[in-house]
Amino acid sequence: MITLQTLSDLHLLAQEMGEKAVTQPHVENLLKAFGPLILMKQRWLQERERKRVSVAIDKHRLTEGVPLIEHGGFFHTEDPWDEAALFAVAAIFQGFPEYGVEMSVLSEEIETGRYKIDPLSVTIQRASGFCVFTSERIQEVNPIVVELFSRFLWRLILCSKRRDCESEMRHLVWSKGYCPVCGSYPQLAVLGTQEEKMLCCSECGHQWRFSAPYCPYCENEDQQRIRLLGIDGEEDGAAFICLECRRYLISTGMSAMCRHPNSDLLSLGFVHLDMILQGKGFMPMAECEWNVLYPDAHANRSARDGS
Ligand SMILES: [Zn+2]
Ligand SMILES: [Zn+2]
Repeated sequence: MITLQTLSDLHLLAQEMGEKAVTQPHVENLLKAFGPLILMKQRWLQERERKRVSVAIDKHRLTEGVPLIEHGGFFHTEDPWDEAALFAVAAIFQGFPEYGVEMSVLSEEIETGRYKIDPLSVTIQRASGFCVFTSERIQEVNPIVVELFSRFLWRLILCSKRRDCESEMRHLVWSKGYCPVCGSYPQLAVLGTQEEKMLCCSECGHQWRFSAPYCPYCENEDQQRIRLLGIDGEEDGAAFICLECRRYLISTGMSAMCRHPNSDLLSLGFVHLDMILQGKGFMPMAECEWNVLYPDAHANRSARDGS
């Protein structure tokens, strides 16, 4: 059910995107493509607010560093896959109207039940292949579109799972660099006082405190091989880099997070830093559509707009 509060929150988020497109014109094309996905994810979470499904939590395994997704019982028959799949189709249709015909095919296949979900086949950092369409019509759809759909569907389900267990996870002490809910690596670090930072999961959106002195990705402790790089002319963004695993993590301050609390939107606004760091041979700790698939999306969009 859409409430006035939901509409107000979505309106504010859309307004923030509009302002970002003006103040950061280099992300305008990305916002056109991925803005509808960010908005739809927000709407999905708000609509799921009153339909929580309980998640089995094994506290002993959590203390051993095993994320919830690997506890067994994480996924449930009541999980709203069909509902989320139709949300994903609608969001991609808005952000990528050039795929309209293909999204109509996917929509028909979902509504007639001609797809199978096997969430247990998903591996960390590779959220595709768990959703298999069973009719031959899927051959009419570009595999990149199916991948985009699968990744976004996966993220919608993980976000609602995270919401389902957030009260139990709130006070968890977790010293790993991967997410205690879904096991994915962070897309953003929010730097606090002294050594403490908050890591934002790239998939489910969970945020956790991280004060360990090692790289969140490879746990390298050699401080000579870890750097926090400021970027000339960049007020809000910096990059944590590890010379051991050659991964980076975009980092920002608490004030930027307070001004722009949507971590997807905040992260998308730093895509120019992603390009600089990848140009230097580093890879992001978490791949997402705009930091790795970005060149394709941007090229398609530029060609279509004639820009
Ligand atoms: Zn997560
Ligand atoms: Zn590392």
